[in-house]
Amino acid sequence: MIGKRVHIETWGCQMNIHQSEGLAGVMLAAGYEPVDRIELADVVLFNGCMVRQKAEEKVYGRIGAVMEEKRRRDVTLGVGGCLGQVHGESLLKRFDAIDFVFGSSGHDSVPDLVERVRARASRVAACGPPSGIDETPFVRRSAVQAMVTITEGCSNYCSYCIVPHARGPMRSRAPEPILREVEAALDAGASEVLLLGQNVNAYGRDRPEYGTFAALLARVAGTGIRRVRFTTSHPRDMTDEVIDVLASAENVCRHLHLPAQSGCDRILAEMNRGYTVDRYLEIVDAVRRRVEGLNVTTDLIVGYPGETEEDFRRTMALIDRVRYGSVFAAKYSPRPLTRSVRVEDDVPESVKGERLERVLLRQRRIALEENRRFIGREVEVLFEGAARNGGTVGRADDHRTVVARGGTIGQFAAVRIEGATTSGLSGAVLIHQR
Ligand code: SAM
Ligand code: SF4
Repeated sequence: MIGKRVHIETWGCQMNIHQSEGLAGVMLAAGYEPVDRIELADVVLFNGCMVRQKAEEKVYGRIGAVMEEKRRRDVTLGVGGCLGQVHGESLLKRFDAIDFVFGSSGHDSVPDLVERVRARASRVAACGPPSGIDETPFVRRSAVQAMVTITEGCSNYCSYCIVPHARGPMRSRAPEPILREVEAALDAGASEVLLLGQNVNAYGRDRPEYGTFAALLARVAGTGIRRVRFTTSHPRDMTDEVIDVLASAENVCRHLHLPAQSGCDRILAEMNRGYTVDRYLEIVDAVRRRVEGLNVTTDLIVGYPGETEEDFRRTMALIDRVRYGSVFAAKYSPRPLTRSVRVEDDVPESVKGERLERVLLRQRRIALEENRRFIGREVEVLFEGAARNGGTVGRADDHRTVVARGGTIGQFAAVRIEGATTSGLSGAVLIHQR
C-alpha cells in the first residue's frame, strides 16, 4: 500500500506560492493528505525558485534533508517549478535523492508522475516547454485573500532575469475564468483578491480579444469584492486607463508595486527595462496626483554589471525622491540563459553588500518617517492572522502592515494608530465592521 501523505515546500515569488496552492489542490483531488513536515510525508514536492543563486541554494539544502529521511524509509521526492524547468534532467544526475523533476506549468500531471515513478521504480524529468495556464483546484493558504492568476510567463526579457526562460512567454488568461474565480472566492468568504502576473499591465497584449488590463481590473472591481490588489506592474506598460481605474474604483487598493530596478538611465537601458528615470517618475507623480495616499513600493537591484558609485547614487536619489513605503532590494546575481550572464559580473561582492546595506538603511529611515505620519489617525484594516507577539495582524488598504489589539481574523475594523516602526503600524481596534 503506497502512502498518500504529501508535504509541499515553496520558494520564490507570489506566483510560485499560488502555484503551490494549485499543486496542493491537485494532490488533494488525487487522494493525498497534506502534512507539514518531511518526516511525516510519503511524497515531498519542492516548488523551487531560480531568480537568484541564493534561492536555488536554499532548495538544494532541503534536498539534503530528504536524502537523510530516505536513508530511513521510502519517500518520493519531486522537484519542480522554475528550478525544475531550467535544470530539467541534470537535477536527476546531480541529486540521487530526486525521483522526478517537474516544470513551471502542467502541475496537474504531478500525481501521475508520482504513480509512474513508484510503479516502475524509475526516475523521470517531465518538463516540456511552459504552456497554457493551469486550471487546477486550489487549496488556498488564506481564507481572507484569494490570489488569482491573470497572466503566466513573461515576454520582457530584462537582461538579468531568468523568468521568461523559466516560465515561457506571457500568456493571458481569458477574462471569464478569472471572473468566475473571483466570484467563487467571494462566495467562499474572501474579502480581498490579488491579481497575479509577472507583468499584469501587459495583460491582453498576446490576446487582444481579451481586452486590456484596465478593462479587466474594472470588471474585477465590479464584482463587489471589498478589496482588489494586483502585482506586478511594469513601468513600461503603465497606461492612463489603468490610472483611471485606480483613481475611480473605490475597492481597488491605494497601492502600486512598481519595480524601478535602478535609478540610473544607463543601467536601465543595459537592463532592457524600456523606460528612463524621468518616465518612471512621471508615472509615479501622475498616479499620486489622482490617488490620494497612494503607497508606492518597488524592487531594486544593486551591483548590476558596470554599476559605478555615481550610478548607484542615482538609485539612492530615486529612493529619496519617491519615498517608497517599502523596497525589496537584492544584490545582482548572474543567472544562466540571461543576456547579462555574458557580461562580466564586475562589481565586487563587498561593494554589492555595502550598497545593499545603504539602500536598506535609507529605506528604513524613510519608512519610519512615513509610518509615523499615521500616528493618531484611523485606518481601515483587514485582519489576516495572529501577530507573533500578541494581537492580530492585517493590512491597511495601502498595503501597510498593521498589528492591533482586539482584531478578528477575516474581519475589517477601524484601527486607531498608536505606534510606527520601519515595517509597519500598530494600534487598537475602535470599531469592527461587517
Ligand atoms: N516581474 C516582476 C518585475 O518586473 O519586476 C518581478 C519578477 S522577479 C521574480 C522579482 C524581482 O527579482 C525583480 O523585480 C528583480 O528586482 C529581482 N531579480 C530578478 N532577477 C535578478 C537577478 N538576476 N539578480 C538580482 N535580482 C533579480
Ligand atoms: Fe523578469 Fe523583467 Fe519579466 Fe519581471 S518583467 S519577470 S524582471 S523579465
